[in-house]
Amino acid sequence: QQGTAALPDAAVVLEGERIDWWNDAAEALLGLSYPRDVGQHIANLVRHPGFVAHLRGGRLDNPIQMPSPGNPHITLSLKIIDYGKNQRLLVARDISRLQQLERMRRDFVANVSHELRTPLTVVAGYLETLLDDQDDEAARRWQRTLQAMREQSDRMQGIVEDLLTLSRLETTPQPDQQAPVAVPGLLAQLLEDARHLSGAQAHQITLEADPALWLLGSEQELRSLFSNLAFNAVRYTPAGGSIRMRWHGDAGGAHFEIADTGIGIAAQHIPRLTERFYRVDIGRSRGSGGTGLGLAIVKHVLLRHDGRLQVDSQPGKGSTFTCDFPAARVHRPARPAVG
Ligand code: ADP
Repeated sequence: QQGTAALPDAAVVLEGERIDWWNDAAEALLGLSYPRDVGQHIANLVRHPGFVAHLRGGRLDNPIQMPSPGNPHITLSLKIIDYGKNQRLLVARDISRLQQLERMRRDFVANVSHELRTPLTVVAGYLETLLDDQDDEAARRWQRTLQAMREQSDRMQGIVEDLLTLSRLETTPQPDQQAPVAVPGLLAQLLEDARHLSGAQAHQITLEADPALWLLGSEQELRSLFSNLAFNAVRYTPAGGSIRMRWHGDAGGAHFEIADTGIGIAAQHIPRLTERFYRVDIGRSRGSGGTGLGLAIVKHVLLRHDGRLQVDSQPGKGSTFTCDFPAARVHRPARPAVG
């Protein structure tokens, strides 16, 4: 008790749901008061519904976040740990500062991206005009320089767009009313786009999709998810290689699988691939038009659709990226009767 009393985090010893003991920090963060609250039911004092669910046997492995009952300006991260017989320790930590920093980081990235977008559009527009102006002797002389400038401004625009997409994914709440998305049609369109991107590299790209397997979610986000994976497969597979996409369902849910015979990824890189700007080979990524943000977008879209990403890869052999969606996200459209 002496050790716990000295902690800056709130600690409360519970006997079932009854309060047995608490430290000083619990008075400030949870609003407990001695001796008034000894033996009280904790749910009478901390009434946040998320907390009550947590207390009554919700998932105990993830801490919950809630405003402090004593001070709404403070955000707490709260966890209940079982120990002994019917005894539990409730630990609450003030994470307001952490949250504020996180919000500042998100706002900063979103603002910078917004501010860069307009000037970049203007620069790209002028470059386009100059490149089109073949009558002008000076423009002809500068052709290669202008071309290189356009490539770089395209790249910058790509980065800005991806950053804006990411910040939208981070800041907008998950829409409540999710519409059914016709994934098979979306993938068929994507197959065309991937073949177009492959062009003269002539990859063998195939798609096998269950036509009656749809998902509940955001069409725009899912398109961005699948296209990032498909374009990566094209970009990291040498000419003539093959890329196989599969969309199928089972009792566990719906699965999108994309397997390529490309350059592959060494095992030590795999856990870090979804970090922003993490690339195995920066030169190769840039050379093929990468922004380093594609898999970060993939990860966020999956999070918002309760999905998971699995990566299986062997250097020199190829990679398989699999997205698993839970059964609750599956939608089977009613098919018109054949008759
Ligand atoms: P980038 O724009 O660089 O492709 P991503 O976030 O989409 O950024 O991917 C991160 C890194 O993961 C890439 O730079 C590349 O090294 C690796 N990677 C992604 N997809 C594949 C793939 N299909 N085959 C091999 N490497 C891949």
